[in-house]
Amino acid sequence: MADQLDAQALDEVVTFTSDLIRIDTTNRGGGDCRERPAAEYAAALLAQAGTEPVLLERTEGRTNVVARIEGTDPAADALLLHGHLDVVPAEAADWSVHPFSGEIRDGVVWGRGAVDMKNMDAMILAVVRAWARQGVRPRRDVVIAFTADEEASAEDGSGFLADRHAALFEGCTEGVGESGAFTFHDGAGRQLYPIAAGERGTAWLKLTARGRAGHGSKVNRDNAVTRLAAALGRIGAHQWPLRLTPTVRAALAELAALYGLETVGPVDPRDPEGTDALLDKLGPAAALVEATVRNSANPTMMQAGYKVNVIPGEAVAYVDGRFLPGTEDEFRATLDRLTGPDVEWEFHHREVALQAPVDSPVFARMRAAVEAFAPEGHVVPYCMSGGTDAKQFSRLGITGYGFSPLKLPEDLDYQALFHGVDERVPVEALHFGVRVLDRFLRTA
Ligand SMILES: [Zn+2]
Repeated sequence: MADQLDAQALDEVVTFTSDLIRIDTTNRGGGDCRERPAAEYAAALLAQAGTEPVLLERTEGRTNVVARIEGTDPAADALLLHGHLDVVPAEAADWSVHPFSGEIRDGVVWGRGAVDMKNMDAMILAVVRAWARQGVRPRRDVVIAFTADEEASAEDGSGFLADRHAALFEGCTEGVGESGAFTFHDGAGRQLYPIAAGERGTAWLKLTARGRAGHGSKVNRDNAVTRLAAALGRIGAHQWPLRLTPTVRAALAELAALYGLETVGPVDPRDPEGTDALLDKLGPAAALVEATVRNSANPTMMQAGYKVNVIPGEAVAYVDGRFLPGTEDEFRATLDRLTGPDVEWEFHHREVALQAPVDSPVFARMRAAVEAFAPEGHVVPYCMSGGTDAKQFSRLGITGYGFSPLKLPEDLDYQALFHGVDERVPVEALHFGVRVLDRFLRTA
């Protein structure tokens, strides 16, 4: 199948990325964000392509956009295509160019959101408009959702859509969003394209230790700070056991085969040493799996006391915990044990873990679309260490994949650009992405 996108689509994906970056949708958390101008921009482009986008707000200014393209096969399940409109903050003084300039310089589009994820939003818009010009209709219904609030709680975004506007997603069985199908250079000349088929769950924990307040010079065996510190020390030092989910197992097997490491033997969850040895041998590519072979819990914040000679009656800490699909009960029991009887813990924020099949037709089509335009690349499944809007859409029974294709040169480290300084994306990477997305959607 030849490349079926026209030249206008290649121009538009660049223009739309740059335009969307110039619309400052910084999400500072706590409700401090305004996506509406970006939502109106996207809705206007969708309407020009003959769709009927609806704008939806739970909170004034926190706008989501949803549109549906009718497929040719009414019996087929629908596919959700989603991208968020908000971005994380950027400190202009740290950047080489202004983070909201959208400047295109030397073939590169610069600015906050260039890879997370106004690039994907622009690719979706460019594909839909190209289809309108060419009279293309996909086989399945394609539901497009541009969301608010992904970079904070999602309560004004995908959470609101899933809870209050489920009818707009009727028939959707699978969803595609961030982040996957970007080039991962392994340092030895190989180009990997990880496609996400799962996410660890989010368990942000609040720990509270109580004790007896008193003078700092007296004997005190009920010191809340000491109790909290001991619990945090146990949590930080805990060696979480190996837990291989189907996605991670598939990732390890494909990587082992790619690197000629079959001699290590089959990936066996009862053999943590074998798996750790395999990770060692994978070198830089181990970064694609090492954060998802175990649960994790990292202490991140502490609050206690107000004066050096006063023992406070209470001490509070926060822990960033993440759990793999199928391990939440074990995670909770482990936290009960590690915190002990003197420290209470509760969820400050909790989100489900996701598991998507890698042997599905839709995964095969994503793989084929990448391989068509990057024949030198190797697609591998992976599990995301963190989370995306796919968690909220999973409440509607939608199986989520991470697929926002980008072909990146070796000197651009995708993971460093994500939420990083000087976030940018080459024009050629956008051209690759829009071609791959078009191919995938035509065949999905
Ligand atoms: Zn994102």
